[in-house]
Amino acid sequence: MPYRVPFVNPREHYRRIKSEVDFAITDTLTKGDLVLRQQLCDFESHLAEFVGVKYAVGVNSCYHALYFSLLAAGVGPGDEVITVGHTFVATVSAIVHTGAKPVLVDVRDDYNMDPNMFEAAVTASTKAVIPVHLNGRVCGMDRIIAFAKERRIAVIEDAAQALGATFQNKGAGSFGLAGCFSFYPFKSLGGLGDGGAVTTDDPEVARLVTLMRFNGEDRQTGEFQYHGQTALLDNVQAAVLDVKLGHLPDWIEHRRMTAGLYRKGLERIEGLRLPHFEDDRHFDSYQNYVIRTECRDELRQHLREQGVETLVHWAKPMWEHKGLGLENPGLPETERICREVISLPMSAETTHDDVDTTVSCVRDFFTSRTLSLHTAAGR
Ligand SMILES: *Cc1c(COP(=O)(O)O)cnc(C)c1O
Repeated sequence: MPYRVPFVNPREHYRRIKSEVDFAITDTLTKGDLVLRQQLCDFESHLAEFVGVKYAVGVNSCYHALYFSLLAAGVGPGDEVITVGHTFVATVSAIVHTGAKPVLVDVRDDYNMDPNMFEAAVTASTKAVIPVHLNGRVCGMDRIIAFAKERRIAVIEDAAQALGATFQNKGAGSFGLAGCFSFYPFKSLGGLGDGGAVTTDDPEVARLVTLMRFNGEDRQTGEFQYHGQTALLDNVQAAVLDVKLGHLPDWIEHRRMTAGLYRKGLERIEGLRLPHFEDDRHFDSYQNYVIRTECRDELRQHLREQGVETLVHWAKPMWEHKGLGLENPGLPETERICREVISLPMSAETTHDDVDTTVSCVRDFFTSRTLSLHTAAGR
């Protein structure tokens, strides 16, 4: 049975911008511009401008953006890289593949890195830190940057979920040595398949990533300077992403408006926490709208029965996936979050009606739960 309220709506997304997207694809194919052409250069310069940095280099995923940025920071075997336990596995896989040791720390109640935990985890071997701007909210970068600078630790931002979000009016991906973005189809700026980018003000980082993404070859001289990889952002993708980047500010506004509607509808329900954190230095882009309750699994089941699609990011801590070979770092907040979070439908296509339906289903759930608890207590 199809959902009454889908989590995202890729068909509607395409329908709304079909003529522009179709033109970009046809134009690129007609010109035969498949690899490393003008469309990629244009997108990279527009992206750099949007983020507020000098350079953007397109690669084929955020995973590769992270991996190449770590290599550019000189990270390798014997080093430690600090990041959070509450993130997508790719953040940690990128560290592991450099040969360095991932050191996982806990998050605060806004789901982002706790600066105290970061500072406490630093050792003489710490080479880099990867703050993850989760759900479209930038980490408290003032403290992280200041401490990292003092200790000469490279800051690489995992900004996969935060393109367009800001902290103190500075864009996600513009704070550290490098910013890493994903254009996976369901990110705020989603492509036709996998895609990503590194943003930086450092010409050496930009140069190294440019070499690494295409077999280590210096395209001017034909010299192979490294054993690189094959990880380009495809030219057709770049042409489509460039079209979509023009719409992104409106899409973010829509997400923020949708978050406001959820807030109005769901405020003051006992046992339910909403993702609104009072600190006006942040401008959140709401990649996800994550709510939190101890009866998450029951709520999710209820919403499923009512035709509302939700997701859980993520249902168990990374270290419980035995195949990853990670030690249990003992992070109580991350563990609680895994049990309690649920993401409600949220995209540039989420309608007012979608929110109303979702809100009333959530309200019904908590009302009938309160009633049955009272009945049980009255016996
Ligand atoms: C999506 C995501 C990634 C990985 O992005 P890919 O482009 O799929 O490699 C990394 N980190 C976070 C926080 C993400 O949400």
